[in-house]
Amino acid sequence: MTELAPSPAESAAEANGSAVTPIHHWIGGAVVAGGSGRTGPVFNPATGRQSGAVDLASVEEVDRAVQVAKRAFASWRAVSLGRRAELMFRIRELVHENKEEIAKLLVAEHGKVLSDAMGEVTRGLEVIEFACGIPTLLKGEFSEQASSGIDVYSIRQPVGVVAGITPFNFPAMVPMWMWAPALACGNTFVLKPSEKDPSASMFTAQLLQEAGLPDGVFNVVHGDKVAVDALLEHPDVTALSFVGSTPIARYIYETGTKHGKRVQALGGAKNHMIVLPDADIDMAADAAVSAAYGSAGERCMAVSVVVAVGDVADPLVAAIQERLPKVKVGDGMEPDSEMGPLVTREHRDKVAGYLDTSEQQGAKVLADGRRTAPEGDGFFLGVSLLDEVTPEMDAYRDEIFGPVLSVVRCGSYEEAVKLVNDNPYGNGTAIFTRDGGVARRFQFEVNAGMVGINVPIPVPVAYYSFGGWKASLFGDSHIYGPEGIHFYTRGKVVTSRWPDPATSKVDLGFPQTR
Ligand code: NAD
Repeated sequence: MTELAPSPAESAAEANGSAVTPIHHWIGGAVVAGGSGRTGPVFNPATGRQSGAVDLASVEEVDRAVQVAKRAFASWRAVSLGRRAELMFRIRELVHENKEEIAKLLVAEHGKVLSDAMGEVTRGLEVIEFACGIPTLLKGEFSEQASSGIDVYSIRQPVGVVAGITPFNFPAMVPMWMWAPALACGNTFVLKPSEKDPSASMFTAQLLQEAGLPDGVFNVVHGDKVAVDALLEHPDVTALSFVGSTPIARYIYETGTKHGKRVQALGGAKNHMIVLPDADIDMAADAAVSAAYGSAGERCMAVSVVVAVGDVADPLVAAIQERLPKVKVGDGMEPDSEMGPLVTREHRDKVAGYLDTSEQQGAKVLADGRRTAPEGDGFFLGVSLLDEVTPEMDAYRDEIFGPVLSVVRCGSYEEAVKLVNDNPYGNGTAIFTRDGGVARRFQFEVNAGMVGINVPIPVPVAYYSFGGWKASLFGDSHIYGPEGIHFYTRGKVVTSRWPDPATSKVDLGFPQTR
């Protein structure tokens, strides 16, 4: 790694004795200190202390990374499929060997508990493993004798410099959803990770280099709207993947496509879990608690609304309530912690604010996480439960993105499905029932991209693709899996003949195959 003179943040940290680590960019295979003079704070959410200062890139710095990626593209796209597959296998091994190291970085900056962070890296690894099959995935089609002496075949080629803009909640996995298939397809990559937890991306960049990825193929620029806009407007960025909140996803899609780019922009969510009267109450309550409070509710596939149908409501709410005091909230590095803090103080306060608003709007606050949060300066909020929530309330309308579970009571299956389908989001949804016929009807009728049947968090395995409907996705490509390969390549169809010059003649008619 390149040796650097102390940055302003480093000098300041040294001067006041605090341990604030500067976090720089990764461009052309080296650490590059930011020159914009702007940095953003990175916190350890469990202690509330600032641990890092991340460089926020200027337009010029983004341009530098894109130019480096553009230069690297010419040779990287020419690397054989066999060699690219070999590199992906090596990357897979290194990520696997360093799984705990990566997971610890996630705990330190995101706050999720270590076991959950290990799970995040594992799900990212699965996408890398899928990308190891790139020679098979890029096989084209061939039609011999499409016309007399003419063969037609299709090939898929990389699109060029691809940018990835990622959210804070999966700082390792979501970038892997993007860079693994993009690089395997022969593209070069500029990643703009969340400025709230940027260190995992820097560590990954070093692993990719150690695996043998040529310098310049994978770059990381940190930043905020300035960097994002520079990527959106850059003429040499040909495709852009985004994962984050819905308002920004919509902006990214509209701005990126206006600038001629291919864009997939995954947005926010409000995931409903319908529980029918015939469901196993204990199983449904276990699932609801796990899916609502895992990662402190900061998952785009978290269950945030339980839709209790008919008589199931009272026993189900009681079963959920009974489980709440047992959820151990604490520092993610403590072995018995099951739920960590929220990512920032502001976000914690915003989430907690929904408890008051909901009560004012008529919901019942059955568990108030402000009372059960661990003491100290960490950004903690305990598990919170709202009952008798209705669709007009803020807690129902907004994506809270925290450990607050709402229960909406419905009279029938039809009413429950209508609620899900009327919701502007359509990421994941689940149904809990013992009736296979109703489950199949639900799968047929529900307007969401990912459906769980007695599975609360139906994140597709790596050889399917991940994506929501409605306001949860802008663009027409889901991410990773077959749709990811399609997104990061463009098709070319070749029509070919090797005629005997002796048979050549002028023919002004339109070419036909019969
Ligand atoms: P966010 O939209 O605030 O930020 C995402 C990225 O966009 C970050 O890199 C950020 O720097 C950048 N950004 C933020 N504001 C911007 C602006 N005004 N202009 C340009 N760029 C901007 O999202 P977040 O808070 O980091 O992540 C949580 C959100 O992501 C939730 O809504 C969650 O549902 C969603 N999410 C969705 C999925 C999915 O697959 N659909 C997966 C994970 C997270």
